[in-house]
Amino acid sequence: MKSCLRKVDELGRFVLPIDFRRSAGIENGAMVAITVDEGRITVEPAERYCQVCHRRIADSAQSIALDCGKVCMSCAAAVSERYLTGAQGH
Ligand SMILES: [Zn+2]
Repeated sequence: MKSCLRKVDELGRFVLPIDFRRSAGIENGAMVAITVDEGRITVEPAERYCQVCHRRIADSAQSIALDCGKVCMSCAAAVSERYLTGAQGH
């Protein structure tokens, strides 16, 4: 584990060190997911999160990759069910 100290500016911004970004797979211009839990803030690539419900996808086998990003199986099933129900005229 690595850590560093950074000063937060008046808008809440600070710089993530380049080696931290590289090791986390965060490229320039990428979307990130920010979570806070009991005073600890985590920053991860947004691609690890469902694009519909924004829950973290722990296992990529439990998701479907679309052009807009990953969708969890629960959301995929809900969309599929709604689409199929609508296609059958209910
Ligand atoms: Zn989802």
